[in-house]
Amino acid sequence: MSDLEVAPDAAVCRAAAPPGPRAEFYPAREVPLGGVRGVTVKRVLPQRDLPTVGAWCFLDLFGSTAPRTELPPNIDPHPHIGLQTVTWPFEGRIRHRDSVGSDVEIEPGQLNLMTSGRGIAHSEYTVPGAPAGRGLQFWIALPEDRRGIEPHFEQHRDLPELTSPGLRARVLLGTLAGVSSPAVTYTPLVGADLTVAAGADETLPLTTEFEYAVLVVDGELTVADTPVTPGPLLYLGSGRDTLRLRSAGGAHAVLLGGEPFAEDLVMWWNFVGRAHDEIDAARTAWETHDTSRFGDIAGHTPAQRIPAPPLPNLRLTPRRRRVGGPHL
Ligand code: MN
Repeated sequence: MSDLEVAPDAAVCRAAAPPGPRAEFYPAREVPLGGVRGVTVKRVLPQRDLPTVGAWCFLDLFGSTAPRTELPPNIDPHPHIGLQTVTWPFEGRIRHRDSVGSDVEIEPGQLNLMTSGRGIAHSEYTVPGAPAGRGLQFWIALPEDRRGIEPHFEQHRDLPELTSPGLRARVLLGTLAGVSSPAVTYTPLVGADLTVAAGADETLPLTTEFEYAVLVVDGELTVADTPVTPGPLLYLGSGRDTLRLRSAGGAHAVLLGGEPFAEDLVMWWNFVGRAHDEIDAARTAWETHDTSRFGDIAGHTPAQRIPAPPLPNLRLTPRRRRVGGPHL
C-alpha cells in the first residue's frame, strides 16, 4: 500500500530521548486514499506529537472501513526512499510487483518486507477473485548509514512464534522473548502479531531500553492496566521489563517497539528523508521518470505511474516530539 493522500501533510519528525513508562492514547485518523471507490484507511502513525515508535514511522489499518464486498483499490506504481515497507494482511490476497523484479502474491500469515534504500518503485493489486483485503501496512525508517543502500525485497512465509495457552505471538520483525524473525532490519526493533485467547492473562518480557506501542485490531485487551479497544494506538513509552496482557473475550493486536529513533526525519508522501531538498530531489526524480533512481516495473506502463502531489509552499523541517501526548 501507499500514502496516496491527495494533499499529504508535511509530516516531519524530530528525535527524542527515552520517555520512560507511559500509557497514552493516540487516535486513528481516517485518511481517504485516491481512486473512484473512495476507500479510507485508519492511520495511527505518524502522529503530530508521536512521529515514531522506535524506527516505526507509519502504520495504517487498511480494509476495515470498507464493506466486505468491496475490493480495496489497486495501488499503481509509486516510489519510496529511506524506509522499509511491511505488509501484513489478515484477509485477502495481494500481488506485489517492484522495480527490482519481484512479482509475488501474499496471503494472510505471510510478510512482505520491501527495503527502499535509495529508491524503489512498486505496485500492489488485489488478486482477482480473492476476498476483500484487510491488514496492516507499516513503514520503518532506515538509519542514516543505511538509508542509501540498494533496494531489495523479501517475502517471509513462515514466521517464528511464541505460544502459550493464552497467547500466540508471531514475530514479524526483530526479537521478542528470545524468538527472532528472519526479516532483515537495520535498527533494534520488534513487531509482533498477538492473538490473545478469551480469559488470557499473559506476561511478555520486554527490552527495557525500547519504547513500545500496541494497536488492537479486534476484540478488547487490557495492556498493563489500560483497557484498549480497536481504534487508537496505545503508546507505552520505555523503561518496562514486562508487559501484562489480559483479555476477557479475546483479542487480535500488534505490538511495536524499538530503540527510540535518534535521528530527525522529514516524511512527505512516500518519502522518508532528513531535509527538504532531499525530498524535493526524490520527487523530481519520480516526476521526470529518472530510472536510475526509480526503475520501471515489468507489466506496467508509464501511464500507470501515480504522479507525485505538489510540494507544499514551505520548507519541510523536522517536527519535535512532545513529551506527554493527548489522552482520550
Ligand atoms: Mn508503497
